[in-house]
Amino acid sequence: MNAPLRRAEIDLDAYRANLDLVREWMDPVELMAIMKADAYGHGLEPIALAAVDAGIRWIGVLTVPAALRLRSIGVGEDVHLFTWQHDPALDFRDAIDSAVDLGVSNVPELQRVIDAVDHRPARVHLGFDSGLHRDGSTPDDWPALVTLARDAQRDGRIEVVAAYTHLAESSDDEDAAAVALFDTAVEQAEDLGLDIPTEHVAASLAGLERKEFRKDMVRMGANLFGIPGADGVSAADLGLEPVMTLTASVAKTKRVPVDTGVSYDYTYRTTAETTLALVPVGYADGVPRLAQGRVEVAIGGTRYPIAGRVAMDQFLVDVGDDDVQVGDTVVLFGTGEHDEMTVLEWGEALGTIGEEIVCRIGTRVPRVYEGHRVEGHVAEYLRGER
Ligand SMILES: *Cc1c(COP(=O)(O)O)cnc(C)c1O
Repeated sequence: MNAPLRRAEIDLDAYRANLDLVREWMDPVELMAIMKADAYGHGLEPIALAAVDAGIRWIGVLTVPAALRLRSIGVGEDVHLFTWQHDPALDFRDAIDSAVDLGVSNVPELQRVIDAVDHRPARVHLGFDSGLHRDGSTPDDWPALVTLARDAQRDGRIEVVAAYTHLAESSDDEDAAAVALFDTAVEQAEDLGLDIPTEHVAASLAGLERKEFRKDMVRMGANLFGIPGADGVSAADLGLEPVMTLTASVAKTKRVPVDTGVSYDYTYRTTAETTLALVPVGYADGVPRLAQGRVEVAIGGTRYPIAGRVAMDQFLVDVGDDDVQVGDTVVLFGTGEHDEMTVLEWGEALGTIGEEIVCRIGTRVPRVYEGHRVEGHVAEYLRGER
């Protein structure tokens, strides 16, 4: 079978290796593997099944529908699925029935959860806003939230599993102040008669760099996909492996004379007779128009800049007199082992972060799963058996 013209190769061995390494670093603290946004664009189901096969018992998926998708492909209740962004119109009944963990951060939301409880208690994590000002209860609203949770737990309608917060990763001092505020909130809950069995605070960056923020569990996404967040630290520095490699096949080549304008607006002109190679990946696939002049792609171990505008479905590279043929593999980003850029370098070149690049790889780019970990439950899923 021919490789698809454009593809995102997902190396499940790399994901597994990152999981194992991070678990070793965090030991004995529990690891929640974060897989929101379709596992950062890597594909939720295969990544989740690979993690479960590796023994992960906590997965964070943002929304209830995503958690229910995982339950429907056989992710059992021994795996806790944490969700924390809820449609205000969502009926929580299915989530509660399927033992989906609910991050809840205000009284009306908690009341809706309590009202949806039928035969089994809802599993609730109380969210506290320690300064990010996204979700999370404000310090002012916290006592009311805690009181309602305490009473509902006494009535057997909910089980308070944890309290959590999310950090701004702004500065060491500001993060420390946020954690101190969270600690106060937990003490306040205990004073009000609500036991907090588990606390989780840190994501990839703080989990790596601030041991004292790890609490009982860390929630990590980026590290596991081989996209570390610290300034100037590469995946390789840490021993992590980028999981996604974005590649395409050269779709056409064309010999053109000197001073040929290339792509829309002729922003690039050839400086000699040369060969243009057409790479069938465009901004619809997640290669930003801004990438022109900022990133280079690798063909046969040689780097080439993007020549002219990135179009919706394609861009061109000027390969000079190099022997580039239709069907040759173009690596846009990957592990860096074959002289290609990494997604971290793409992020830096484009004034953003690697997470944004992988999340924006479009739906018409098939995810191709590789690695000998394509076995067990992942293989069953990919064969359509789950
Ligand atoms: C995205 C997210 C995480 C994981 O963040 P990373 O930096 O990718 O590890 C953890 N917790 C919450 C609440 C998040 O939204």
